[in-house]
Amino acid sequence: MLTKIKCPKCNTEGTFSISDPVYDGPYRCWKCRELLKIRMEHGSLISVQQMDPQEMAKREEIRAMKEKFHH
Ligand SMILES: [Zn+2]
Repeated sequence: MLTKIKCPKCNTEGTFSISDPVYDGPYRCWKCRELLKIRMEHGSLISVQQMDPQEMAKREEIRAMKEKFHH
């Protein structure tokens, strides 16, 4: 499913593809590289927020940890 997301910083529209009906996670603007936190439900964009870099680092840490356990 392709959804359009407009970056609140530079107003550039990008497309984002998800396979899950509900997505809550990061999205990076292809133009200004701003990191956003988006929430989508059934193809509709519920919220777009600028992501806190600290929260992002935490997520990356958790993701790296999960990967370690899965391999
Ligand atoms: Zn942008």
